[in-house]
Amino acid sequence: MELQHHYSLKKLHTFGIDCFAENYCEISTKDELNDVIQSIKTLPRPILFLGGGSNVLFRADFSGTIIKISLFGKQILHENEEEVLIYCAAGENWHSIVEWTVQNGWGGIENLALIPGNCGAAPLQNIGAYGIEICQSLVNVHWFELNTKTEKIITNEECNFGYRDSIFKRDLKDKGIVTGITLRLSKNPTPHYNYADVQSELKEQEIVNPTIKDIFNAVVQIRSRKLPNPNEIGNAGSFFKNPIISAIQFTNLQSQYPEIPHYSQNDGRIKIPAGWLIEKAGWKGFRQGDAGVSSKQALVLVNYNNTTGEEIYQLSQNILDDIFNKFNIHLEREVNIV
Ligand code: NAP
Repeated sequence: MELQHHYSLKKLHTFGIDCFAENYCEISTKDELNDVIQSIKTLPRPILFLGGGSNVLFRADFSGTIIKISLFGKQILHENEEEVLIYCAAGENWHSIVEWTVQNGWGGIENLALIPGNCGAAPLQNIGAYGIEICQSLVNVHWFELNTKTEKIITNEECNFGYRDSIFKRDLKDKGIVTGITLRLSKNPTPHYNYADVQSELKEQEIVNPTIKDIFNAVVQIRSRKLPNPNEIGNAGSFFKNPIISAIQFTNLQSQYPEIPHYSQNDGRIKIPAGWLIEKAGWKGFRQGDAGVSSKQALVLVNYNNTTGEEIYQLSQNILDDIFNKFNIHLEREVNIV
């Protein structure tokens, strides 16, 4: 294993901020993974495992060691007339896997098209969109445990999935590496399209009985229209989580803002779109220097050209404070701050 020094992170994360890792290496095979793990105690700390870099903000240069996980490969593990079990290595691009499954007519993850990032990161925050979450298709996670230096299988149930949440963000945080995931997909899928955006896209295309390919295409159209493309303007997708508040707090809020969009949860609480709160507070399209709030989607913070991680962080803090002052809601960052 060879460490590189003062390594540019600009192209390794979708914010595209000009910053550096003091030490850097990339893992492309299981042998390289073993090598790195054997010598992990000697590597300069802190250690950060990086996937597609689509959910991270570097506030400054990284002083420890960044290890990029580039394990590739996908395969069919098992199939019958009803379903197929596939394995995807952690470094596989998530959207390309979704595209592959849809092309094959396997349903279950088509609503998750164009979610940025790699397969390894997908279970960490239980990625979800348009009424579907990865936990509904995920069979297990292949997990390399740092302590024991062995690979384990973590079952769906053991992942303790929640809304954009899992055991990997809690008890297992920093304790291992996702090396791959297994998904179970249906050969007789039932398309899910109860979200307004998907329904209106299908209506516009005059599609009445959509296939999973139609849903996939609709989601690609919506996301391409609504979200800034990180290849054109640096960003990490939704910067904040959608808050879930109590019914009492919601009633108070609704009396002030009768038009507030809201979605009831099974536990009686109410989910509010963070993007609506940020837009209502006047931040949509805000720009200070090269840091800004997307004019397409208020939930997305952007790097117009050459901003710093600290400037983006400060902007996010100003938004958090303002939303709290105006709505009495504590927004949480979805993006990992490093
Ligand atoms: P959107 O469609 O404008 O929805 C905003 C909020 O309203 C979300 O919290 C969404 O819940 C909720 N919502 C809308 N229609 C709903 C319905 N019919 N039933 C229940 N809840 C409903 O959101 P957007 O910002 O444009 O994002 C589109 C989709 O991509 C959303 O599902 C969003 O969660 C998802 N997304 C996921 C990630 C990620 O996994 N990291 C990142 C960005 C966006 P849900 O959040 O439960 O869908």
